[in-house]
Amino acid sequence: MTAVERIRVLRVPSPLVRPFVTAVRRTDHLDVVLVEVTDTDGRRGYGEAATSWRVTGESPQSVAAAVAGPLAEAVLGRHACDPGIPADIARSVWGNAAARSAVECAVADLAAQQRGVALAQMISALTAPSRLRTDMTLSAGEPAVLASLAAEHVTAGFGCLKIKVSVAHDTVAGLQAVRAAVGPDITLRIDANQAWGAETAIRVIRAAEDAGLALELVEQPVAAHDLDALAEVTSAVDTPIMADESVRTAHDVRMIADRGAAALVNIKLAKTGGLTEALAAAETARAAGLGVVIGCMMESHVGVSAAAHLAAAVAPDAVHDLDAAFWLRSSPVTGGVVLSGDTLDLGAGDGLGISGLAADAQPEVLVDLSRRAAVSA
Ligand SMILES: [Mg+2]
Repeated sequence: MTAVERIRVLRVPSPLVRPFVTAVRRTDHLDVVLVEVTDTDGRRGYGEAATSWRVTGESPQSVAAAVAGPLAEAVLGRHACDPGIPADIARSVWGNAAARSAVECAVADLAAQQRGVALAQMISALTAPSRLRTDMTLSAGEPAVLASLAAEHVTAGFGCLKIKVSVAHDTVAGLQAVRAAVGPDITLRIDANQAWGAETAIRVIRAAEDAGLALELVEQPVAAHDLDALAEVTSAVDTPIMADESVRTAHDVRMIADRGAAALVNIKLAKTGGLTEALAAAETARAAGLGVVIGCMMESHVGVSAAAHLAAAVAPDAVHDLDAAFWLRSSPVTGGVVLSGDTLDLGAGDGLGISGLAADAQPEVLVDLSRRAAVSA
């Protein structure tokens, strides 16, 4: 039996290449929070918990507490391939979705390694592709700044740009500057991160339509809880609307579909609480005819690798929203997804293909528990 023998929570401070700015936050570095599980044969599986008080509502300390308590209890000593683990993780703690996801992904990484297959292959009914495309996010900013950054990203190989909007900036002017800089062939998406009310959203999106900006989609124009407003925007404009913050679970996807509130959903592991619920959410969307994009929070190569394997399994042809790892100066691990142009290559390894922590990573050990002896750091 190759049981889960040890579980650790590691914090790896990681600088970003440039500040990340949205309607709700600004950050210039990332506290990467990793869950590492080790089996009796010495294999290690990795998962990541995206933490941000204002986005996921979790912190390195809250993840450490959830793992050290109920989550370690749910997995330590159990065979990584035990099919009951995801449900027991989901039952063990309410909320704390990023922590739950990190543990479920780490155990799934381990299980796929034990079976000798890529994680995408383990969770897919079909042959999952090994390469995916992602958009690149531009922080909210002045038109001239957006235009020059957009041109830089297109030169670097990105064909799809996602522009964050904020009430502090003229959205249409910014988009016009970007469109003029990148030409007609680049796909443009925007993400309002709930910044608008229905009236503003409809006015701005119609103005973008009238200006011929050819937006592919508009993400989360209004407040997460206000599905009436989301449906109102969807029915009032021609541009497809994608729900992000409004969607956490498969149940939420069902509500969106029943109300015709959006055309697409952005599914993220840190919202669903792990792979199993993410797969259910994607299947619910597919059955209801909603488009699926797999996204991620501001997280490192570990979280992006898990999301990329999920994306390869459920929506291989979409352009996903998985550019977070491009924002880090370096990866906290060796292996995992390889970034090139706008492509994520899953690599050939088993599981997530992660071989261990990077040599220059300086992890702070927040939790270190094993089946035999529990040691609290
Ligand atoms: Mg979003």
